[in-house]
Amino acid sequence: MKTKFIFVTGGVVSSLGKGIMASTIGQLLKSRGLKVFMQKFDPYINVDPGTLSPFQHGEVFVTDDGCETDLDLGHYERFIDENLSKESSVTTGKIYQAVIDKERKGDYLGATIQVIPHITNEIKDRLKAVAKASNADVVITEIGGTVGDIESLPFLEAIRQARRDFGQKNTLYIHTTLLPYLKAAKEIKTKPTQHSVKELRSLGISPDMIVLRSEVPVSKSIKEKIALFCDVESTHVFESVDVDILYKAILNLHKQDIDEWILKHFEIEPSKPMDLSPWESLIKSIEESKKEIQIGLVGKYVSLHDAYLSVVEALKHAGYHQGLQVNIKFLNAEKITEDNVEKALDGCKGLIVPGGFGERATDGKIAAIKYARTHNLPFFGICYGMQLAAIEFARNVMGIGLATTTEIDPNTKYPIIDIMTNQDLTKNLGGTQRLGLYDCEIESESLAYSLYQTTSIKERHRHRYEFNNFYKEAFLSYGMKLSGVNKKENLVEIIELPNHPFFIACQFHPEFLSRPLRPHPIFKGFIEAAHNNQTNE
Ligand code: GLN
Repeated sequence: MKTKFIFVTGGVVSSLGKGIMASTIGQLLKSRGLKVFMQKFDPYINVDPGTLSPFQHGEVFVTDDGCETDLDLGHYERFIDENLSKESSVTTGKIYQAVIDKERKGDYLGATIQVIPHITNEIKDRLKAVAKASNADVVITEIGGTVGDIESLPFLEAIRQARRDFGQKNTLYIHTTLLPYLKAAKEIKTKPTQHSVKELRSLGISPDMIVLRSEVPVSKSIKEKIALFCDVESTHVFESVDVDILYKAILNLHKQDIDEWILKHFEIEPSKPMDLSPWESLIKSIEESKKEIQIGLVGKYVSLHDAYLSVVEALKHAGYHQGLQVNIKFLNAEKITEDNVEKALDGCKGLIVPGGFGERATDGKIAAIKYARTHNLPFFGICYGMQLAAIEFARNVMGIGLATTTEIDPNTKYPIIDIMTNQDLTKNLGGTQRLGLYDCEIESESLAYSLYQTTSIKERHRHRYEFNNFYKEAFLSYGMKLSGVNKKENLVEIIELPNHPFFIACQFHPEFLSRPLRPHPIFKGFIEAAHNNQTNE
């Protein structure tokens, strides 16, 4: 097999930034000319995070092929700038579901099904599947959770066996741990790392490299001590000190030659010299972005900012490229009314209403959209944000006071948003939603065209309901432009208001395709419009 595997585990505590670390290494290897793909093993029993509350688990990320995944995949895609696939997301639920399905079909020929070898074999099959589907030189697999958790044991056992199966030179174990700094003693403590590595070794895995997460720089002698106690080469102990700008982690790890050592381990000759200049310029422009701009984000899950992670990142990307620091004012839609919306949006130069589900908090979102429409405040609606913008327009401009979506009222007489029967919801994996990449044709005389500069785009979706074509003519006659459609299924994808400085909303989720080095055109246009709004004051 040509593919090499890197396994990233975490020790001591969770929330170490293991995903960022794994994708940083991915970006470094990609910058050396390798084809890199990433995968996450998640120990939770849900089959996918699609049904998990955003309050608990943060955003659900969606891949091109319509897989609902953990938000870490968003970090991976943004860092390595590769579009991942369903093979990238593996949960305990998926593994057990596959094994139980096979058992029911009699595929195991009467054997007693056990964690070892059946579950571990299924996990290893996912490694082979990702290698095959991606044809990558290197696959980086992050194992969720912390070493020592009961839930992750089968995954750790599978990656232990992987070295046996694929060979020493084709596998690499990187363990990330926390080095706590005790302020009172002014000392870094290595003991938790020693314990964590001991735990990992008791499971049969000796890390080849250790990445130390620390608040303060780590001295050579500490690294040597860890190397000695943990049986790792002292050149293979790296530090990852807290950074003010995430992307600095890429440069920091490169300075310590981590990519060089990984290539040596795999005996790969890099196909090109390292060029990190795009990241260096990005960091420079972030550092120079002194000017601030405030954007109001009105949503239901605002108490956990991670619920809107990709939207937040996409707004920031757009800001970086215009020398602007985007500050987001998170506003709880449940608390917003027509009476207090002006005050709530005070200081905001643009309004974004991202995706959502259910009836709760929709009135507040509609009040905010109405305010933006009637006060020339740049507005950008995403998914539910688009559906509610259409409803607001129907209610307040077209005079259909009872306009709504069948998601809120299944028996409504005015289903502006409804299930469109001709949808083929089974095309992509994942139940009854329209998930993943779909085409959209853009009208050439439109704001959408001026942003995308092309008439044909593909964007990722995650929704059940649609703009109801029955109302198309009525919307057009009142001046709403339906500037993007999916021709094949005759579905409205983008709506916009021409007599407004910037009012656009889309059925898809553009935030999933924004990259730090390549901000998404609608986000870029939105931040530009918000900036114009600020400078015109
Ligand atoms: N709830 C809406 C639907 O299912 C919008 C979904 C979303 O915003 N992701 O169509």
